[in-house]
Formats: sequence, structure tokens, C-alpha cells
Amino acid sequence: MNVSILGTGYVGLVTGLTLAKLGHPTICVDIMEDKIRSINQGNMPFYEKGMEGLYKEVSGKGLFKATTDIHSSVLDSDVTFVCVGTPSDANGEINLDYIQSAVIQIGQAMKEKDYHLVVIKSTVVPGTTEELVVPELGHSSGKWAGDQFGVCMNPEFLREGSAVYDSFHPDRIIIGELEPKAGKMLEELYTGLKCPVLHMDLKTAEMVKYASNALLATKISFANEVANLCTIMDIDVDKVMEGVGLDSRINPAFLSSGIGFGGSCFPKDVSALLHMEEGKGLKPYLLASVLAVNDQQPKEALKLLKTQVKDLQGKTIAVLGLAFKPDTDDIRESRAIPLIKELVSEGVKVRACDPMAIMNFKSVFPDIEYFTDPKETLEGADACILHTAWKNILALEPDDFLTMKRSIIIDGRRMLASKRQEFLEKGIIYLAIGLPIGES
Ligand code: NAD
Repeated sequence: MNVSILGTGYVGLVTGLTLAKLGHPTICVDIMEDKIRSINQGNMPFYEKGMEGLYKEVSGKGLFKATTDIHSSVLDSDVTFVCVGTPSDANGEINLDYIQSAVIQIGQAMKEKDYHLVVIKSTVVPGTTEELVVPELGHSSGKWAGDQFGVCMNPEFLREGSAVYDSFHPDRIIIGELEPKAGKMLEELYTGLKCPVLHMDLKTAEMVKYASNALLATKISFANEVANLCTIMDIDVDKVMEGVGLDSRINPAFLSSGIGFGGSCFPKDVSALLHMEEGKGLKPYLLASVLAVNDQQPKEALKLLKTQVKDLQGKTIAVLGLAFKPDTDDIRESRAIPLIKELVSEGVKVRACDPMAIMNFKSVFPDIEYFTDPKETLEGADACILHTAWKNILALEPDDFLTMKRSIIIDGRRMLASKRQEFLEKGIIYLAIGLPIGES
């Protein structure tokens, strides 16, 4: 099958390269000309492990290209995926403007074609595909849904940082379908991937994505709330969560505590689900708390810092890691942003370090100092806060912290907890959320 993909971001580009590798000639489309030019020159617009090699392989075989021409891409394909962004508005509600405009453009091209399948892969609130996408496609194409075009909702679960791997090894494929013909066609496209495939209606598929992300975010905030109590009660939360996670009904994933979750999905999706609940007259007790705990976590790291550096005015603090997680240059909703905002507002001179995300971070904080080498970042600092578990930060040894003015580590993700004893022996203060202060 020939595939076109609207929206060449993390999801669209990785999906496009995956489908090309599965043997489907694929064309990725975006409205950003610079992005498309750079992809066609072999320069990927963001970092993902394995993506460049995959691009070389599939474009070399003539199975993949990128363009800004939406109309002819739809005309030349059998199926179009919609992978445009679905950001939150200022009040946290989902903004569907990109979806609507993409769908209208697809519909206009569909006027000139026989049966075409449209697949919504962007995360959209339940009801969107049925109530917005299907009518807009019908209206702009002048065709009947079901007979003359098919519609599926196929949520994406890839994780940035391991997106290429995840795309080839999904835990499940969720196919929301308007009618079975559309769902069958989409399932065929994924032939070669080994995992359970669940068919359901459009609304249910949309809800699977929100419920999954909200549950993962809830696990993190739960672990963080317990961790905040453990810090005060001199209990090591890692041991607690190890004990908790071994319960087969619970599972150990997403029980690590720290500075909170970021990224382009969890904060936005939890917030959208919360607004959906409110819109239906329900009170989102649980989800409101999930977000409130998450907002609190950077402040918890600062509280720990202030146990050692009472007045931050004029001090130099090194922040190691800016991306929302390792192996990506994505800083959307990174917890380093509220953390550094707070530090700057208290008159701190920030030395910030990241191997990949500096360019993106400079658009938010143009005036702080940037480094790519963690050791250099630490030199002369009054304290440091570890934010992202990059390999070169995990590899830091106790001696690397001795070049600081005062060797104080606030570990936002418990990433160097195994070296606690060595820190203690060298007189380095090591504090982390959910770690007994008495053990530092
Ligand atoms: P992104 O912001 O990286 O990319 C979206 C792209 O769509 C941009 O390049 C934009 O220019 C393009 N675009 C907007 N309107 C367009 C149009 N009319 N035609 C063509 N291109 C258009 O977004 P992303 O991170 O890839 O996320 C896309 C969707 O997938 C979102 O709904 C997100 O919630 C969901 N999702 C993201 C992830 C993730 O890890 N990033 C994981 C699962 C699901």
C-alpha cells in the first residue's frame, strides 16, 4: 500500500520510516518547508536512536521521501495518517485546529479519488474522530464515510528516546474503526509486527490512549507523593517502591520518584482528560492531584537545595540535563524549565548542561550559561541539581564533583544513588527526593 503521513514530527516521521521499512512506499508531509528540506538532505529534525540509519536505508531503496505537497501526497496514496500536533490551550483544553485543517486538506484531495483510508494517529479526546474528523472529511470531499472512504483511529504509544525500537516492537496495536473494512486494511499495513491487535470503535480507541497515559502519570505522581513523605520520615523510597512493584498486580515500571514527569504527552494528555471530565460535569479529583503533585516536585528539589544553601541570591548552581528525558533533544514540559525559572527568579547564576537539548533550551532561556560537558559545568558551582539521566551524567564519579565551590548534589532522579557511600566518604553532600536526609 502507498502511504502518506501528515505531520512529520516525532510520531509522523518515525511512523513513516517504520512503514517504509515494512515495505510500503511512504511520503511524509509537513507544512514546515525547512523541516522537509532538511529531511530530504538526510538531516533529521530531531534526535532518535537508529533514525538516521533507517532513513538512509529506506530512502536509498526509494521507499521514503518527504514533501510539503499535501494534495498530491494524498492523491498518490491509499492511506493517509494524521500525525499533527494536538497541543493544550492556555486553560489545558485540547486544541484541535491542526487536526481540523489537516483533515479538510485531505478531504479536498479525496474528491479526486476512489476509496481512501484516513487514520488519525494524533492523540485526540474521545469523540473527536466521530464528531469532527468524519463529518469534515465527508463535507470537504463530498463523499460518504464507510462506502467511499474509511476512517480509523490508531493511537500511538512510542516513547521518545526509544521511538524507533518501540515502533517495531509495540506492546499492542489499537485499531478504532468506523467499519470493519477500514480496520482490516489498517491491520494489513502492520503485517510483520508481532503483538496483539485489538479492534474497537473510534471513541474507545481514543480513550485507550488517554487512560494509558493518565495511569502512567498517576503511578509517577503516586510514587512522588510517597517519596516526599519518605524524605521527611527518613525512609528510602526506592526500597519502598521495590517492595511495592514486586506485587504482580502492580508492576515495578513508572514507580521511580523524583522531580516529576515532562514531555509532550503526559502533562498535556492528563490535562485534556481532566477538562473532558469537567466538561461532562464530573469532578476530576484524581487527575487534578496527579498534576498538582507533578507541579510540586521541582519545588521539592529546591527545598532540598535550601537545606544546604540558605540564600540563593548571587549563587552559581549547575543544572545537569535539560531534555525531559535522556536520548532526546525534546524539552517540551521538561521539569528543568520550572526548576530553572525558579532559580533565576531567586537571583541564581545558572550553568546548564545537556548533550542534545541546548539549542531548544536557548529559545526559553537565552541568557543562562550553557555547556555540553557535565564536568566543566560543575567547576566553581555552589551546588548542582541533576535533572536528566544522560549517560555522561550517570558516568560522573565522586571526584568530578570536587571542583565545585561546595560539593552539594541534589539528585532529581536518584541517578547516582548507588554512589552515596563514596560521596559520604569524600565529604560530598548528596540529597535526593525520597532519600533519608540523615544518610547524606
Ligand atoms: P510534533 O509537534 O513533533 O509534530 C507535529 C508536526 O505536524 C509538526 O511538524 C507540524 O509542522 C506538522 N503539521 C501541523 N499541521 C500540519 C498540516 N496541516 N499538514 C502537515 N503537517 C502539519 O508532534 P508529535 O510529538 O509528533 O505528536 C503528534 C501527535 O502524536 C500528538 O497528538 C501527540 O500527542 C501524539 N503522540 C506523541 C508522542 C510523542 O512521544 N511525541 C507519542 C504518542 C503520541
